[in-house]
Formats: sequence, C-alpha cells, structure tokens
Amino acid sequence: MASANPVELILAKRNGAALSEEQISFFIKGFLDGSIPEYQMSALLMAIYFQGLNDPEIAALTRSYIESGKTLSFPEDLKVADKHSTGGVGDKISLMLAPIAAALGLTVPMISGRGLGHTGGTLDKLESIPGFNTQFGMAQFKALVEKHGCALVGQSEELVPADKRIYALRDVTATVESPGLITASIMSKKIAEGARHLVIDLKIGSGAFMPNLRRARELAELLIHTGKGFGQKVKVVFSNMNSPLGKAVGNGLEMAEAIAYLKGNLEPDTKELTTTLTTQMLLSSGLAADPEAAKGMIDSVVASGKALQKLEEIITAQGGDARVIDDPSLLGTVSHEIPIIARETGFVHQIDSRAIGYALVRINAGRMKVGDRLDYGAGALLFPKTGDQITAGERIGTVLSNHPGKGEEVAELIRAAYQISPLPVEREPLVFEIR
Ligand code: URA
Repeated sequence: MASANPVELILAKRNGAALSEEQISFFIKGFLDGSIPEYQMSALLMAIYFQGLNDPEIAALTRSYIESGKTLSFPEDLKVADKHSTGGVGDKISLMLAPIAAALGLTVPMISGRGLGHTGGTLDKLESIPGFNTQFGMAQFKALVEKHGCALVGQSEELVPADKRIYALRDVTATVESPGLITASIMSKKIAEGARHLVIDLKIGSGAFMPNLRRARELAELLIHTGKGFGQKVKVVFSNMNSPLGKAVGNGLEMAEAIAYLKGNLEPDTKELTTTLTTQMLLSSGLAADPEAAKGMIDSVVASGKALQKLEEIITAQGGDARVIDDPSLLGTVSHEIPIIARETGFVHQIDSRAIGYALVRINAGRMKVGDRLDYGAGALLFPKTGDQITAGERIGTVLSNHPGKGEEVAELIRAAYQISPLPVEREPLVFEIR
C-alpha cells in the first residue's frame, strides 16, 4: 500500500470495520518509521480495544509484528520450547521454569516483556540483578541459547520491535485487555524466537487481564489458532490469579523468591504451577512420556541443584552478578518495612490482586508511564491466600518501601484488598483446566 490516511483507518476501526492485511502493515510500519505518531497509534489501539479484531486481522497483526524484526530458527534436533504468561501479580514462574527446563535438556529462547498495567514483567525482575543484560541482537541471543540452553531477553530493535513499542504504549493507554492485541503481542514474540512448542499460562481472576473462564477460553482459541497458522504447537494452562503467586510481589523480591525456590524452598502454589507448566513443555516436546515422568524429572533437577546451577550460568552469561544467588540484598534494599495488620478475624474470601499490583506502582515496584524508573527493592511480602483463616491483629504481610509515607498508604490499600468473611470459604483450584 503506497500511502493512506491513518485517520481513515482509525475511523474505519472505530466504526467496526475490519482492516486488511495491507492496512495493518501500513499502520505498523508507519508507526515504527515515525510517520505515524504515538497519538494516532494510541487512538487505533483504543478503537481495537472497543471493536476487537477478527482472526485474519489478528494473523495480519501478528505477521506485521514478526516482520518488524528478524526471526530465529534452531536446528531440527533441538527441542525448542517456551512458556509465556498472560500476566499476573507475583508471577515469577519463568524465573524458575526457564532454568529447570534448560537443565532438563530443552532449548528455551525466552523473549519476555516488562511490567504491564498492574502486572509485573520477567525482564524487570531479571534486571534487579546488577549487570543483567536483557538487550541482545539476534545473533548474540541465538549464540547464548545454543551455548547455555536458555537466554531470557526483551524485545529489541531486531526482535519484534513493533511489540516492544506498542506493548509500552498499551501499558499507559489502558489498552492492554484486548484479546486480539494480547494474541498478536504474545504470539509474535514466541514465533519470532523460533519456539516450536509453546505453553501459555492463561491467567484468570482479579489479578489477571481475563476476568473469567469464558473470556479466557475465547483468548485460548485465538492463541492456539494463531500459533497453528505459524506451525507452532500451543498448549494452554488456565490458572487462577485471584491470589498473588507465592509470597513476594516486587521485582527484586520475586527474583529472591525464585532463587530460594531453586534452593529447595518451594511455596506450594508456585511449585504446583511451575511443575504443571514445565510438564506441558516436556510432554509437548516429547522429552517426557507422561506427566508422572515429567514431574519426577522436574523434582530431581531442583533437588540436585542442577536448576540452580543453570540459573547461575544464565546470570553470568548475560552479564549479571551471580553473587545474588547467596546475597539477596544485591537485588535491592529498602529503608522501611511496614507491617500490614489484619483488622478482622475470619476467612480470606477474596483478594483484589489487581489493586495490590496498582498499589505497588505507587512505590515504584511498577511503572505509571513509559520510562519510569523502578525501585527493585520495593514491593510486598503477602502471606494469606484465598480460603485461609486470619485473626484480627495478625500480620498478613509487609510492604517494603523507600518512601515511608507512600509505604503506609500502600500498606493500607493492600489491607483493604483482602475481603474477610466470617464463614469458611471454599479454596479454589490453582489450575482450572488444560487445553
Ligand atoms: N503478555 C504479552 O506479551 N503481551 C500482552 O499483551 C499480554 C501479556
């Protein structure tokens, strides 16, 4: 398409029309070369948010994202597999899963994202490690993956740059929760990196972008269908994001929790989810014959310390200070620890994980706008899960902050995010279903 008026395309989408592959490609290329400004891209994203994208539009957007950079491919004999999460609160699973999978012989070229909205991002967590580099060109990324079995990097000018720019824009324009945009964003990264087997952790609940199982199933269909169109085998695990995962929420704190996990300090929910997702990678790639065998392999690679060694190897290979393995204070420190005290006795009925994520943005554990600097030490340690019994006066968590005043506010917001019922509450499953 030689040229078009971006306003007409925004108008067409705003009024519910479907855009052609050519029109989508024109818009994305224009945005990347600077001829279409951010305000027009933002307007198109908002129009897409309200009007949605049909299957051909999603495939076209995914292709435009992929073609905005280079793609990787690995030798046929390597079992190239990856996992991606649609985003949650306290979701540090990739930090454990990637070294576990690589230590078991999978090839894991993981292109991850930064925090989005109220959710944390794997790249931000990794960057709490002093010196850890997540920006590599394609050739260096491939070399790292081939040498170490795994590398964890971000989108770059070579790796799906369109997603890098648009992801950051969606974060600050309230256009994250769009199934079509989420699909193109995830699938473009995972196809460009050359993963042949992909497991998606599709999160549902108060801390997720998908509020219920019905909407999540629709998104799963889009992800599976889009992957298939590009020759990728996609499995989807529907998981519960009503309680933050593990105890830590915040970049350095989550990195520390992941290291502790690989040392054998396994939080029950992170263990269940890490095992379930890694199992799907092992099954899909044929490295394990059945779920029992996969579980045994995962347990033993953690117990033997091989997964921890692999993490240390990856940290060193990507320029990070591997002393963080023994000294979590290197991941960030704070001046204030503010207790979160329960005011009621009863059972945790609901946790507004989204409110927790947004509250922590106030102390720089996440971003308010593109380019905001993070405080890697900031965050919270949160103890009860949905269904747990608590007593008035009990400490249910701690806010870690370098701003005492704001830290107090955040502790109050987090306390209010826990709804307490006088009656026992049925515990919800962590994994709802696998497709
Ligand atoms: N993860 C992504 O990579 N992109 C999204 O849009 C949401 C979650």
